Parts: sequence; C-alpha cells; structure tokens
Amino acid sequence: TRVLERLLPDEEATARLGEDIAMALRPGDTLALAGDLGAGKTTLARGVIRAMAGEPALDVPSPTFTLVQSYETRVPLHHFDLYRLAAPSELDELGLDEMLSAGAALIEWPDRAGDRLPPDAVKLELTHDGEGRLARIAGAGPAFERIARSFAI
Ligand code: ADP
Ligand code: MG
Repeated sequence: TRVLERLLPDEEATARLGEDIAMALRPGDTLALAGDLGAGKTTLARGVIRAMAGEPALDVPSPTFTLVQSYETRVPLHHFDLYRLAAPSELDELGLDEMLSAGAALIEWPDRAGDRLPPDAVKLELTHDGEGRLARIAGAGPAFERIARSFAI
C-alpha cells in the first residue's frame, strides 16, 4: 500500500485537485471521498465534475437529499452523498451496480455503503489542517496507481 498526501491551503486548491483527478478517471472507477462534514468532499467532487463536463461554472449541487446526481460527461459520472442512506441495501434500489459498470462514481460518506463498494474503489480522505485541508490517498492496484499519478502533480 502506498500513501500520498497533498496540502490544500484553500477552496481553490481542493477544486484543482478535482480537476487533476478528472484527467485520470475512466469508466468503472470508483472514488470514495471520506472526511467529516465540511472537509471539502463536495468541493472536490465539483472540481472533478466541472472538469469532466468542460464547464467551469456548471451548477453542481450537493446530492444530500437525492443521494445521487448523474452527469453526462466525457465518462458518465455519478455523484453520491450517502449521508442519509438508511441502510446499505438501499443502494440496490438506487441501481448502484449498473451505475458503477456504466460510468465512474464519486462517493461521499462511503462508509455508509457497508461492503457494497467495489474492492478496487480508490479511497481519498480529507481532513482539516489549520485553515486548509489535507488530502490523503492510500491503496494499491492499477486504478489506484493511475489516479495517484494525477494526485501527485
Ligand atoms: P463536505 O462536502 O465535505 O461536507 P464541502 O465541500 O461542502 O464539504 O466544503 C465545506 C466548506 O469548506 C466550504 O465552505 C468550502 O469552501 C470549504 N473548503 C473546501 N476546501 C477547502 C480548503 N482546502 N481550505 C479551506 N476551506 C475549504
Ligand atoms: Mg458534501
């Protein structure tokens, strides 16, 4: 397992990390975005989605209540926020498996999914660091290495 870290001094830096990750994302990738409330998960997801859409001002609401919001970008992209998921089995009704096989997924509050995330999901954790944030990615395998390369920019 390798661990990579990137300091994110401000909101702009979080969005830029998302843009860098967007360049590496492929269909079938799952990026699990862990971290407390306010850690910057949605900000990072917004950076990924806007870069994939090629629309820097695209409206990207937090899918807090809808649980998932899908985007017709270069790769079909599904943005989940599982904070309000009652049970992991709810993901079957949402159609998680079909979404994961057809596109790429960004998943906030991934722990709520129990064991339903694919084993090759790449985990990125955001923590508060003074006024800014620290992003940490850890893992192994081809999807991890591909995303880790963009992470290290
Ligand atoms: P989450 O989805 O994890 O709850 P958000 O992405 O909604 O968090 O971000 C919460 C707040 O943190 C927002 O006001 C955002 O502007 C701010 N923020 C994001 N990244 C950073 C950063 N690197 N440094 C300082 N503030 C940040
Ligand atoms: Mg959020």
